[in-house]
Amino acid sequence: MPVIRLFRRLPRGHRIAISALSAGMVLLALLPSETALASRSLAPEQEQQASPARKRALELELENIPFRDQRRHAREQVVQVRSGDTLSLIFARLKLPPALLHDISLLKQAAPLQTLHPGDKLTFRFDKDDGFAGLLYPLDAARTLEISQDPQGLNSRVHSASLENRNKFAQGKVDSSFWNAGVTAGLSAGQIMSLAAMFAWDLDFALDIRAGDYFTVLFEEQYKDGLRVGTGDILAAEFVNQGKVYQAVRHEDGNYYSPDGRAMRKSFLRAPVNFSHISSNFNPRRLHPVTGQVRPHRGIDYAARTGTPVVASGSGVVTESGYNRFNGNYVFIRHDSTYVTKYLHLDKRMVKKGQRVKQEQQIGTLGATGRVTGPHLHYEFLVNGVHQDPKTVKLPQAARLPAAELARFQPRARQLLAQLTRVGEVMLAKN
Ligand SMILES: [Zn+2]
Repeated sequence: MPVIRLFRRLPRGHRIAISALSAGMVLLALLPSETALASRSLAPEQEQQASPARKRALELELENIPFRDQRRHAREQVVQVRSGDTLSLIFARLKLPPALLHDISLLKQAAPLQTLHPGDKLTFRFDKDDGFAGLLYPLDAARTLEISQDPQGLNSRVHSASLENRNKFAQGKVDSSFWNAGVTAGLSAGQIMSLAAMFAWDLDFALDIRAGDYFTVLFEEQYKDGLRVGTGDILAAEFVNQGKVYQAVRHEDGNYYSPDGRAMRKSFLRAPVNFSHISSNFNPRRLHPVTGQVRPHRGIDYAARTGTPVVASGSGVVTESGYNRFNGNYVFIRHDSTYVTKYLHLDKRMVKKGQRVKQEQQIGTLGATGRVTGPHLHYEFLVNGVHQDPKTVKLPQAARLPAAELARFQPRARQLLAQLTRVGEVMLAKN
């Protein structure tokens, strides 16, 4: 499940944002008049009455499932998992016996049924006497778990459909915001977030994106019988920010590397707040919320809603977690003998003095405590005790891949980037 893996790799803030998005989508999916329980019959005459779109959807669902014995069940019922649902609640709604639930829970392959997600679809099969005949649960675009009531007892198996990967390109040019450019380019919410996550150590997506910036992305799409069934990983991406070119290629280890084989993941994120929370994505004449000056003082201010997650830009130890009337709630982190970062005006602090924190770990929420006129995070970056601009400060480079890995990575990276650049230029010329 590449999407899930990608999701886990995303910084926590991104994951929260995606979860919020998905929750929103689930809500949207549940809002229409469509009921959570949809019953359907396999009788051919009823199949013909279904609308072409619905029929195609049914066919798609059914294609996943090799029917070994179609006659064993007379009726199917599709149940959409609601928020808060468990398998036992669904069984109770369908008036299926608790003993059956218990027997299913003993099946080794049935473990995914213990962690249902809202929006998941379960297909129940019933025999002509309305007894339980089986259950289908798609694990991802390619795999379906089947539980069947066979004459010799309950059985479980996982069916795999072979998927074909196709490469696809997308290009976006920033006009109003990075997010909008991603949407216009046809990228999904998850892809936009992972594109930002990929370059989060090089680029401050909250404050440094400008009109005219553009990006080109090469990603995989999964097809089954000529129909798109899923979106896979971004294989390579290029981001041109204020004229500077950043490139990343996915290695077989699932991580992203620069063309010369250095990990995109570095010791410091460029921004401790996810761009998706920043109200105005760029403003060349951003005024400081208190002083009204164009150039903020010794730190950078991120204006966003109170409650926005603030993450540690790098791993380290919390040296201060306290409150005073100027800083409000504040957290200081020492990363090593050279680097210290400071986070001011927090609404809530989520770490204690002396605590170890990991990069991207949430340390608090953005707020308006202390001497401020509006909610924002004041972020400071100190090198050997001297304030530096975290966007421009030279930071230690990530190590390169070991020689043997590099020998595998580089030829492929060169090939993908050449493709990306070629297609990117053609697309750019068209726009
Ligand atoms: Zn400030």
